[in-house]
Amino acid sequence: MVAARILGNMHQRYDATAILNPMMRAVVYDEPGSFTVREVPVPTVGEGQVLVRMTAAGMCGTDLHLHEGQFLANFPLTPGHENLGVVESVGNDATGGEVLDGEGAPLQVGQQVVINPNSACRACAYCLEGRPWLCGSFAGVGSSTPGGFADYLLVPGAQVFDATGIDPDLAVFAEPSACIAHLIDRLEPLAGCSVVVLGAGPTGVLLTQFLLFGGASSVVLADPNEFKLAVASSLADIGTFVMNREDVAGSMDAMVTSWGEFDVVIDATGRAGVIEELPRLARGGGRIVYYGVADEADVVRISPFDIFRRELTIMGSFTEVDSFPDALAAFRAGAIRVDGLITHRFGVDEYAAALEALRSDRSAHKIVITA
Ligand SMILES: [Zn+2]
Ligand SMILES: [Zn+2]
Repeated sequence: MVAARILGNMHQRYDATAILNPMMRAVVYDEPGSFTVREVPVPTVGEGQVLVRMTAAGMCGTDLHLHEGQFLANFPLTPGHENLGVVESVGNDATGGEVLDGEGAPLQVGQQVVINPNSACRACAYCLEGRPWLCGSFAGVGSSTPGGFADYLLVPGAQVFDATGIDPDLAVFAEPSACIAHLIDRLEPLAGCSVVVLGAGPTGVLLTQFLLFGGASSVVLADPNEFKLAVASSLADIGTFVMNREDVAGSMDAMVTSWGEFDVVIDATGRAGVIEELPRLARGGGRIVYYGVADEADVVRISPFDIFRRELTIMGSFTEVDSFPDALAAFRAGAIRVDGLITHRFGVDEYAAALEALRSDRSAHKIVITA
């Protein structure tokens, strides 16, 4: 009835605005450390774009860095980069992300999709040599543009990937899994390697499974948190080690006593005190990977003679741009299990409580913002 009156009285702007610009809830940071959950207009779909109605969005340590204004954060900001939803509307000429033949996949209203948050210019030297994650114009949904801690998310169609038939509690891990798929690419050749992962957060747990799927001969996961280790070893055939937070170096030496030195050593903690000691775990010729997000100000001490003498490689693996198809293929192959990983769910309105759980609740594993 209100709509009918507006159609008849388009000059009456007061009602027309409310009808033509429906509102949604969103987490909005005006500046680092300061956010509110407020009503904002639902974005309007343009050419090549897709509007997604959010069903779930994962939180991770990156959201704490964004809270502090780090990690390419662009304010005002709605975070949320691990996004799952259903297609609400499709703009003109919008198709989904490229499938193998280079064609965009058609999208249907109501279809379950995941969103690749990352994009690059596709024209610079890095992009043209096939390394778009190094692009100077690299941009991220939920850091440089509005993300999914909201009722709706507007994104370019090329960043939307079909997740039909995948359990939503698995599909919500698509983004961290795509980052891991990129890391696995970086680690080729991986087959036959012994690997140790430091940090049994959700990423560490997923990572152990992708490493085995990628051909690693053995995987050991280390963390001080026995609950997280128990979850991880219930999901994959891995070794576990309970780290002593007070004696990281001693813990690592004890691991080498148990398992020998490792071909590949991966940090998924981002903690300088752990990163500094990683060479202890590496075999001669081994590779050490910085995968966890360290604080931007952190500095660590490494012995250059040790790196030289034992021909160690220290490498980073940052994010992904083109790895969503690989992650989704691993899901569809049944290679990745996440039972018990999601421990906490909060509504968009409860973002403050979700952040607090992420920061300090030792029983929290994966935290998901749900519709
Ligand atoms: Zn994340
Ligand atoms: Zn580029």
